[in-house]
Amino acid sequence: MTPVARLIDGRALAAALREEVAAAAARLHERYGAVPGLAAVLVGNDPASEIYVRSKARACSEAGIASFEHRLPADCAMPALLELVTSLNADNRIDGILVQLPLPAGLDPSRVIGALDPAKDVDGFHPVNVGLLWSGKPGLVPCTPQGVMLLLRSVRQDLSGAGSVVLGRSQIVGRPTAALLLACDCTVTIVHSKTQDAATICRRADILVAAMGRPAIVTADWIKPGAIVIDVGISRISGPQGTTGQGTTRLVGDVDFPAAQQVAGAITPVPGGVGPMTIACLLQNTVLAAYRRRGLPDPIPPRRG
Ligand code: NAP
Repeated sequence: MTPVARLIDGRALAAALREEVAAAAARLHERYGAVPGLAAVLVGNDPASEIYVRSKARACSEAGIASFEHRLPADCAMPALLELVTSLNADNRIDGILVQLPLPAGLDPSRVIGALDPAKDVDGFHPVNVGLLWSGKPGLVPCTPQGVMLLLRSVRQDLSGAGSVVLGRSQIVGRPTAALLLACDCTVTIVHSKTQDAATICRRADILVAAMGRPAIVTADWIKPGAIVIDVGISRISGPQGTTGQGTTRLVGDVDFPAAQQVAGAITPVPGGVGPMTIACLLQNTVLAAYRRRGLPDPIPPRRG
């Protein structure tokens, strides 16, 4: 069967945003002699975190952002980590601080995030930024939810009144995505693991955002014909080697993509959908923080939020 859904190309949108961010970083340098700086704090040596921090450093350099890496051993004590955060808060070369999560056992992530200067909290996890987001006021917005909104806006400009369902209520994806949808006047329902009959709730949604980390759980019968489906989930499952695979495993989202494509109006693939947007939005947040910390107006229009 020929797919009916329009494919939302996260790679192309992310590339366009990265160009805009690079132009804003270049303007900051030309006009004010400042280079935006992003510091990554990596505690221990979790392999996935190492890969993420490396790719972030590459992306920074392409965007004209200086990147700084700070490593602490897995057995470091909380005061040492807090001391590092305090020194980065005070360092004027640094506009954004990213504490790579998860932290090793014994280190309390909420205390570390609470110690960040909210103006440098480019992940948007500090309680001040969470409060600003839910109050509909400008702050720093978490990167993946921001990416979700940009993908949505690429296929539907006016979201007012749209029935939206967010699958998942995590602090980093589900909740902030729901807040952003609400800020765009969507009618928002959040589904979580205790929700009864998620499929029926989802079938009413004009916009469906899946962020559960449950491979291909969202089947075609969960989707309203013509709905926009944004698949945030990333799971590695065993399967044939392909362009998206590594050895005998491959990446899949929360949505049964081939089946959903027959029903949805527009849909993001995995990989190549939300993933590339997350890092582009981290770069954007860093440049935004650099402008705001200097009392300058936002360099990239707010339609992005
Ligand atoms: P998380 O913290 O594990 O949260 C998962 C959420 O899904 C929870 O709220 C959970 O409900 C809910 N859930 C789990 N199973 C469910 C089910 N069967 N029915 C309904 N709700 C269910 O995960 P996360 O950090 O938000 O990440 C979600 C997914 O997005 C993961 O696959 C992750 O890898 C991916 N992700 C991708 C990006 C990207 O850049 N593309 C970035 C971040 C995350 P409860 O609260 O009731 O437990």
